[in-house]
Amino acid sequence: MEINIPALLRIKPNALNKIGKYLRKDGFDRVAVYYGEGMKDLVGERVSISLDSSEIRVGHEETVADNLAESVLTSAFKLPRGIEAIVAVGGGKAIDCAKYVAFLSHLPILSVPTSISNDGFASPQSSLVVAGKRKSMKAAIPHGVILDTEIIGASPDRMTFSGIGDLVSKYSAVQDWKLAYHAEGEPVNDFAVMISLQSAENLVNFPNKSIRDLEFLRLVCGALVMSGVAMEVSGSSRPASGSEHLVSHAYDALAKKPALHGIQVGVATMAVTLLQGHPKRDLILSLLEETGFCSYVEANPLEKEAFLRAVDAAPSVKPGYYTVLSDDDARASLVEEIKTSAFWNRFLA
Ligand SMILES: [Zn+2]
Repeated sequence: MEINIPALLRIKPNALNKIGKYLRKDGFDRVAVYYGEGMKDLVGERVSISLDSSEIRVGHEETVADNLAESVLTSAFKLPRGIEAIVAVGGGKAIDCAKYVAFLSHLPILSVPTSISNDGFASPQSSLVVAGKRKSMKAAIPHGVILDTEIIGASPDRMTFSGIGDLVSKYSAVQDWKLAYHAEGEPVNDFAVMISLQSAENLVNFPNKSIRDLEFLRLVCGALVMSGVAMEVSGSSRPASGSEHLVSHAYDALAKKPALHGIQVGVATMAVTLLQGHPKRDLILSLLEETGFCSYVEANPLEKEAFLRAVDAAPSVKPGYYTVLSDDDARASLVEEIKTSAFWNRFLA
């Protein structure tokens, strides 16, 4: 199996101003730029100036409006000849689409997220809507990831909280992977586990867990990149996605108004780690508390009824994917616990 990891990685303030320089250094002359909605107004001028000053030509430019598979396919066929790389500037949707265009066109992609609501910007997968349903499609891991921490810091807080929620899920995902090994002999890739957990540990051990602290933000960004790398190394989503992701996907279909992916995943992580008897659960809870994730969810709680049904529906989201929720009794006991314990009133309404 071939493993690729991003060859170019910059996580620092004002990294956006150097996109042209980074592309030039890697020998690219002509690129296609994909912007998320509103992103051209926000940072387009800085991107243009940077590309111009390094004499990088823009052969195609597009604003991504949706993440329908058909739109992505059309866009890939529209790419003119001579494009050497794709640059994706925006949130999850723009990067998911551009990543798949790059995959279809066999082109390297430079991922430039303007917010970090999930770990998709550095993962080898694209989340696209296929025939009305959201689907995770295999794509290529980005050639480069540029994270401008000042831009990330200026993005809405809920986005960063969502990224933190997606991050803590590495703990429960890895635990589910180990359970799957014991229950069904599914092989665990130790190296992917180490990559996935070690970057999360850096956060837990950082003294000032404030999303206003650019150094803390840098660690969050780095850990989300490593989550993508862990998926590439293992050739599966196991190190980054377990029962908590299944609950979140089920909730997407059941809730009247779904929340951000990582917000749902973070709350679900609190739930499934309880069932797993996870040894790091207290640390996970204190990280969520100290960063302000918990206060955010308290002000914007998830729908209790839909969440309970999502816990119950989780195994049907991905049949054959063994997790702590595969066991009927365990699932019922978690539902009961969430119904009766006052702890959950803070996060579910
Ligand atoms: Zn996720």
